[in-house]
Amino acid sequence: MPLVSMRQLLDEAAKGGYGVGAFNVNDMEQIQAIMMAAKETKSPVIVQASRGARQFAEDLYLFRLIEAAAELNPEIPIAMHQDHGNSFETCKSAIELGFTSVMMDGSLKSDGKTPSTFEENVEVTRKVVDFAHERGVTVEGEIGVLGGVEDGHGAGGSGLDHITDPDQAVEFAERTGVDALAIAIGTSHGAYKFTKKPDGSVLKMDILIAIHKRLPKTHLVMHGSSSVPKDLQDIVNKYGGKLKETWGVPVEEIQLGIRNGVRKINVDTDNRLAITGAIRKVLWETPEKFDPRDYLKPAREAMKAVVALRMTQFGQAGHAGDYKPVSIEEIAKGYKDGSLSTRPLVASK
Ligand SMILES: [Zn+2]
Repeated sequence: MPLVSMRQLLDEAAKGGYGVGAFNVNDMEQIQAIMMAAKETKSPVIVQASRGARQFAEDLYLFRLIEAAAELNPEIPIAMHQDHGNSFETCKSAIELGFTSVMMDGSLKSDGKTPSTFEENVEVTRKVVDFAHERGVTVEGEIGVLGGVEDGHGAGGSGLDHITDPDQAVEFAERTGVDALAIAIGTSHGAYKFTKKPDGSVLKMDILIAIHKRLPKTHLVMHGSSSVPKDLQDIVNKYGGKLKETWGVPVEEIQLGIRNGVRKINVDTDNRLAITGAIRKVLWETPEKFDPRDYLKPAREAMKAVVALRMTQFGQAGHAGDYKPVSIEEIAKGYKDGSLSTRPLVASK
């Protein structure tokens, strides 16, 4: 199957009432792990690369690996997404490379650290939407600022510093026409999200629900949504790691989000922990080993297990065969004639 538009994938998820995990990749083993899990669970999937990943792997290596994944798995719809684009240029280069979706994170300035103004965010996001939609490519925006830092990207601080204001979210969606919107409801990037198990006072699920009611056509995105399970932390620490105790986003909270308009859930930390734990275990238990395959294979298996579990929990499992891919050209037409508009004024008519 050719790579599909993320918009189509999320529209289908909305129809089916499920969420789709967006898993970060940097190398071949991670891409293989995701595809193994997608195949096993028959899941449509979003594969995403941050700027750091594109730098680490080099654009062409990374993109050709994704093309191989699509060719080897014709029954799986795959969207290729730029995670946290920091500027118009980053998004443009991803689109020119062949990504079918981009995130323009205009909540921060192009340094990827300093919060921007609302007007700056609207301006740069709208510019990306114009360029992307003309080419049938999906755009995710962000309003409010997430906590933490990952891959050198993020404002740092707590996830509660810049919670999304629903009125601003509506105005942002109207003025930019984004397909998907990342909102800040208290989640953070990285492994250290919460110092205790989060509850209703930490995760602002009521804000998420309020935004979904007013933006029924805009797909909501939860970032920083690894669950950071204790068993994965324990494996890392058992074999010489030194992770401090931490809590992620409970799966039940994500499922509550999915019942209220969340269609894309970003997961990275859990996979990093699974890989690192598996590699540590092999090197700890059998220090005489030096063939990279001896630890990369269990690492790939460990990541596959986490991804397959999330696919089942998010509800995307079993849905790979529900629909035929719509060509990117067809999607571009839908943006042009307005049939794919998500703008709330159009949606409420
Ligand atoms: Zn993120």
